[in-house]
Amino acid sequence: MTAQPVDTTVADLIETARALDAADPLHAHLDAFLDAPGVTAYLDGNSLGRPLASVPERLAAFVREDWGTRLIRSWDEQWMALPEQLGDRIGAVAIGAAPGQTIVADSTSVLLYKLMRAAVSATAAADPARTQLVIEAGNFPTDRFIAAGVAEEAGLELVWVEPDPVHGVTVADLAPVLSERTALVVLSHVDYRSGALADMAAITAAVHDAGALMLWDLCHSAGSVPVRLDECGADLAVGCTYKYLNGGPGSPAFAYVRRDLQAALRQPIQGWWSAADIFAMGPAYAPTAGIRQLLSGTPPVTSMLAMQAMLDLIEEAGIDAVRAKSVSLTDFAVEACDALLAPLGVRLLGPRDSALRGGHITIGHPDFQAVTQVLWGDGIIPDFRFPDGIRLGLSPLSTSHEETLTGVLAVRDALLARG
Ligand SMILES: *Cc1c(COP(=O)(O)O)cnc(C)c1O
Repeated sequence: MTAQPVDTTVADLIETARALDAADPLHAHLDAFLDAPGVTAYLDGNSLGRPLASVPERLAAFVREDWGTRLIRSWDEQWMALPEQLGDRIGAVAIGAAPGQTIVADSTSVLLYKLMRAAVSATAAADPARTQLVIEAGNFPTDRFIAAGVAEEAGLELVWVEPDPVHGVTVADLAPVLSERTALVVLSHVDYRSGALADMAAITAAVHDAGALMLWDLCHSAGSVPVRLDECGADLAVGCTYKYLNGGPGSPAFAYVRRDLQAALRQPIQGWWSAADIFAMGPAYAPTAGIRQLLSGTPPVTSMLAMQAMLDLIEEAGIDAVRAKSVSLTDFAVEACDALLAPLGVRLLGPRDSALRGGHITIGHPDFQAVTQVLWGDGIIPDFRFPDGIRLGLSPLSTSHEETLTGVLAVRDALLARG
């Protein structure tokens, strides 16, 4: 009774995966990515996106021409404007921001610090009674650590919310802690563990009703879930470019500041790149107007190249089509996990409803730390999250349904091999 039904299930799933791939309007874009010999399922695009096949030549041409031949003239010719240009492009292609509100710089951690510090200083100046910084207990470590540092530095009280770890943060979780004492709320749009997708519009509105500012971390949504910052009336946001924007390891982050807030905010690292006249070399600092005020020092131009190819690709595909593919991939992954892994004791650690989920799913089993090591050795690459979660990060443009199934089957085989 055991072997036969399992095989039938696998055959059905393979057929389903192939049918979904055949019907996928974005399927051809899989060829845009560089081959990774020996890797049969790359399921970690939410931690480090794959390089596009055009990137090696793009980097080589940059060294040869822009850097090697134009030399320092390239700063004037193109590099000075790059932080804003790329910011506007991310705004248009991925996060729903009109020009002049997004900038590429630093790392997510540093931009979180700059925006949090600027926001709490501005709110405290306007209303000294606002002394609380609200953050989620399950947020990504760097977000929590930096919030704690900012609170200490600015003499604020940290207020923790502890939402359901599977379904993520809601307005109902925040309602009890929001008050006339709230200065700033910091949350992730998509939870890095469960994949839960927060209701940006409703939460932003609730925070505004309390008179506070809202800072969204978009690391796990930018490039896979359409973000509508302007439409939601969002105040501030940050995000990574090396996850779903495929900028490569250590590519700089982006920050968004709503246009009408920009004049009121002063970020704390006032380097020469944010001075009103960068080449005045004057005795004292005067900030430039607009989003460039978030810059501090010389931007990492070489690290801003690879993401440009991905932004082109996302624009060509359309972020809503990218989301539709993402939903299809995560729905199929859940279906495969239900059929193949649930009987082995594996639990789904994120939302079952795709409308409430970002671009990855997380599954749990006590043996997953050891299983992940086996999988990596075999060229199947998900990631492990303590204590017992495997994340299947299904980067929509570079992942197929069949590849997703290959990954789930490998998890099953590794669990079965452990007996
Ligand atoms: C990936 C990620 C970061 C990473 O921050 P870095 O400064 O790039 O190391 C921060 N926050 C969240 C929510 C993330 O998912």
